[in-house]
Amino acid sequence: MRNTRQSATLRSILAAHPAPLSVHEILSLAQRRHPGLGIATVYRHVSHWLEEGWLTPVELPGQPCRYELAGKAHHHHFLCSACGRVFDLPGCVPGLHQLLPEGFHAQRHDVTIYGACRRCAATLPIPEREPQHA
Ligand SMILES: [Zn+2]
Ligand SMILES: [Zn+2]
Repeated sequence: MRNTRQSATLRSILAAHPAPLSVHEILSLAQRRHPGLGIATVYRHVSHWLEEGWLTPVELPGQPCRYELAGKAHHHHFLCSACGRVFDLPGCVPGLHQLLPEGFHAQRHDVTIYGACRRCAATLPIPEREPQHA
């Protein structure tokens, strides 16, 4: 790593952020401290930290890959359809495995809730609600 100050900034952004970040999100946060920082540097560090096992990818359908610290406790994600930010939802969904038909064994699961975050929900003219299940 050539520039240790940039490296330290990127590391602290990822360590402090409470939710996964895309390369572009990391870049825009890091550019507040290092305006000259380029996207290639962020890619280089992220792929290094993935190899090291410090970061793990978070892939949500139709979204750019995001990254979070490896080894976090089990959690799920919320994607704000208005601002595009992703939030961690700590914990799990009680009774999720009751959905499985008899004889099925789950290995892993992902749960993503889509909607509006608190900030975006406050500015939406009409609150968007999840349709009632028929
Ligand atoms: Zn939002
Ligand atoms: Zn879960």
